[in-house]
Amino acid sequence: MSAKIVKTDAEWRAQLTPLQYNVTRKKGTEPAFTGEYFDCKDVGLYRCVCCGATLFSSETKFDSGSGWPSYTAPAVPGCVRTEEDLSWFTQRTEVLCTACDAHLGHVFNDGPKPSGLRYCINSAALKFERQE
Ligand code: FE
Repeated sequence: MSAKIVKTDAEWRAQLTPLQYNVTRKKGTEPAFTGEYFDCKDVGLYRCVCCGATLFSSETKFDSGSGWPSYTAPAVPGCVRTEEDLSWFTQRTEVLCTACDAHLGHVFNDGPKPSGLRYCINSAALKFERQE
């Protein structure tokens, strides 16, 4: 795992679109069915929009019907980390990029077997790299 990536708020703002900034640095959520990737079925890797770390693969992507890109597992062990999120009067598990602490989305226990996990991720936190 590479070194931690730390930037100032101004640097993130300058690098990201307002939506990308709101989601990844302010723990925002894009509206369902509006993101670039929820319906993407192409083969490739989904990288962190902030730091470029490989986070998810099309191999574990599935159609959850939620309107957000959904995966059963991260692409690489340890590439994402989780934190308990007690906002919005409910307990959820937040998913973050290990390298740069970008907020990515949440993980739920209602995913398909065998992992049973559903990583519900904002398109705005991802940059897709298509593999030919
Ligand atoms: Fe990152």
